[in-house]
Amino acid sequence: MRIAMISEHASPLAALGGEDAGGQNTHVAELSVALATAGHDVRVYTRRDCAELPGTVRMLDGVAVVHVPAGPPEPIAKDELLPYMAEFGQWLADQWQGDEWVPDVVHAHFWMSGLAAVAASQRTGVPVVQTYHALGTVKRRHQGSMDTSPANRVGYELELGRTVDRIVAQSQDEVRELIRMGVPWSRMTVVPSGVNDQNFSPVGPVAHRDGGRPRILSVGRLVERKGFQDLISAMRLVPDAECVIVGGPPADQLGDDPQARRLRALAETYGVADRVRLVGAVPREEMPRWYRSADVLVAAPWYEPFGLTPLEAMACGVPVIGTAVGGLTDTIVDGLTGDLVPPRAPEALGAALRELLNDQVRRFGYATAALDRVRESYSWGRTADQLGAVYTAVSGVRRPTRAVV
Ligand code: UDP
Repeated sequence: MRIAMISEHASPLAALGGEDAGGQNTHVAELSVALATAGHDVRVYTRRDCAELPGTVRMLDGVAVVHVPAGPPEPIAKDELLPYMAEFGQWLADQWQGDEWVPDVVHAHFWMSGLAAVAASQRTGVPVVQTYHALGTVKRRHQGSMDTSPANRVGYELELGRTVDRIVAQSQDEVRELIRMGVPWSRMTVVPSGVNDQNFSPVGPVAHRDGGRPRILSVGRLVERKGFQDLISAMRLVPDAECVIVGGPPADQLGDDPQARRLRALAETYGVADRVRLVGAVPREEMPRWYRSADVLVAAPWYEPFGLTPLEAMACGVPVIGTAVGGLTDTIVDGLTGDLVPPRAPEALGAALRELLNDQVRRFGYATAALDRVRESYSWGRTADQLGAVYTAVSGVRRPTRAVV
């Protein structure tokens, strides 16, 4: 099949760790490769955010990344992109009407990509599959007035849920949220993300460690909802361990980053600064060595649509302590492949860390079961197969086109 992926802000070619570059970029990159490996022809459409970018970049056989001119060719924060989505959608429709390459299906990632996809579909009739990656209702609940999303995001997300041909949710928790919003259950299929077990595996190079302290690793963009501040607070309860945080801007820019400064100040306040290390952004291909260097991975988000980092750690044979939110409640089986603790509760996290770091047998048991679970249920090949079935189901249904005035 010819598959168009739309990922307006998250390019599969971007460096990760920055504020708007994380799981969605990885997801789109890995999924596209897996679909191409299964024999599909994939084009990923992402916004041109730099004038020097070529129009099209071939990632590998069967996957091309197309840079779409929509808005000024410069970096723009995700929350400021809405005004350019109509232009994005019209550009896609022009391409597909004038080009010999017309997709059988469009898979939109994030709600704004969905708007562009529906706009293009209205002129071309190409069916649309939507994955939200994150929901405005959840963000608003947790961030309140700090949420900088466009005011009408939730309305657009609901409208998409009722318009597109299929919604692919990533976790059972997301299904529950969508139902609460008013999206019918019958329109949804759950297909989780995966992990690349060729790259993320227990055997391979290991990042350097000094001394004999147990290492607690945590990975992600340095945004408040990732809960790094709760982990730093919990470090008071594990006085022998070190905490390594990977993510954020590159190491040489950490000193100017307000979030990094906030976390370092917090570590000083709690008297744990000598045991907390911020590494900055690490290239994707170097992530496995960081996971392998850890005794335990902590993922302590306040909310998390899916959460790739626990899966990546599990694939590297590292036990995980996660907060019982979002996708983590599907991927981590409490007491079997890791521990689940309440979010925003440093005491509970500290107690769980202390217990697990003191119990080598349990760590080994979790790591073994986690590896088994990842191999059985979370390969990208499996994700691609499940999505292939969804695409086949919707692509038989050509949508009626509508003239756009
Ligand atoms: N990541 C990376 N380098 C970094 C920080 C993160 O490659 O310095 C990757 C990480 O391995 C994972 C993704 O970024 O694949 C983060 O995805 P997750 O779902 O955990 O969080 P999101 O960014 O989507 O909120």
